[in-house]
Amino acid sequence: MQHPQFSMEPRNVRLELAVDGFNPFGNMSNSYSLWPVVLIPYKLPPSLVMKDPFLMLSLLIPRESQPRIDIDVYMRRLVDELNEFWKNGALSYDALTGESFQMRAALMWTIHDWPAFGDISEWRTKGHYSCYTCNDEPYFQSLKGKTAYTNHRCYLPQNHHERRKSKAYNGKHEKRKKSLELPVEKILEQLDRVTSVTYGKHLRNKKRLCQAPNWTKVSILSELPYWKKRKLRHNIDVMHVEKNFSENTFGTMLGIDEKNKDTNKARMDLEDMGIRKELWLTRRPDGTFVKPREIFSLTPEERVGFFELLKSVKSPDDYAANISRLVNERNGKLGGLKSHDYHVLIQQILPIEMRGDVNKEISKTLFELGSFFQDLCSRTLRRNELEKLEEPIVRILCKLEKIFPPAFFDVMVHLAVHLPREAILGGSVQYRWRYRIEK
Ligand SMILES: [Zn+2]
Repeated sequence: MQHPQFSMEPRNVRLELAVDGFNPFGNMSNSYSLWPVVLIPYKLPPSLVMKDPFLMLSLLIPRESQPRIDIDVYMRRLVDELNEFWKNGALSYDALTGESFQMRAALMWTIHDWPAFGDISEWRTKGHYSCYTCNDEPYFQSLKGKTAYTNHRCYLPQNHHERRKSKAYNGKHEKRKKSLELPVEKILEQLDRVTSVTYGKHLRNKKRLCQAPNWTKVSILSELPYWKKRKLRHNIDVMHVEKNFSENTFGTMLGIDEKNKDTNKARMDLEDMGIRKELWLTRRPDGTFVKPREIFSLTPEERVGFFELLKSVKSPDDYAANISRLVNERNGKLGGLKSHDYHVLIQQILPIEMRGDVNKEISKTLFELGSFFQDLCSRTLRRNELEKLEEPIVRILCKLEKIFPPAFFDVMVHLAVHLPREAILGGSVQYRWRYRIEK
């Protein structure tokens, strides 16, 4: 126990800080955005903790762009107050015992989408070092115009047989070993090397971006005396990861424009890497390309069958939107899906609907992926079960690396590998995802 005096008083409050940006004008072409910063007290019973009346709006930041490092300027007052609540607390009245006491408060962690993760943590969530947890060992793959976060075999045991396979993966054996744990000492050592910053747009700040290894500055939250030793400071949002994973999977398998990761460029990547020769593009005399069919791609008839089946899906009103109404029969696309619909798609619908259309191995992997997210999102989590979830997600990502092209693995797909460890440190994802805040 790091702070026994705080923990021994059951009336002290633990807080979560949620940051999210939205455009108050909807989809209008207006770059103006509002960034609410909400405090959520973990003092209440589980049934109340995320209810609207108990969410405390602490700041509303009006911006024409993302706040980035300037978020500290807005957070100054809030951090001062959090410091005061930690050191001295506030005089409060206990109605049960009829006595007054000093109630203290501590910030547990922050929740946000991936871009806001970069603003609040001050770890730049772009570029090769995008993943905060992988930190200075990202093991990325440079592709045509993008970065893929593959190489999940490095999490497997050193003598695992998949490590010795090369053709099915990136053409190489995997000898590197990587841990899913990010030591606090490593972060502290890096932050010691980060120099001061000038707020606003300064050339000096641009030059600083490549330091130690992807920090933009030291977060203002580091001023909280207990913050530096916290193992989980900034949560990866499960809702956001599930949505992107789901979108990439069905978008690629159904060949949906703008969502499909199996593009001509992705096939050229395979050629550049010298792998899966049977899938390389070949040029016709008229300059166009022949693109061999991938094993995971649905034929036009199978696509029609998929959407027909989707149209027949019925779900309870409070479970998911009526997905069948979102199918556009004319172009066979899905439109207007909300984050929770993607959650239902990847966990329930996709594995069942794809069962007859793809081979046994792909079908099994989709079921395993759905089951991983179901287990992770269950209301009751046991530590020993969560530890067991780390192994399946590594295995699933390795299997997917053999199925999909490297372009499939954007950072949001990769982040799934870190979710079980975060649940071990932070508990149930129901308290740490953005469903309540997004509404
Ligand atoms: Zn990572």
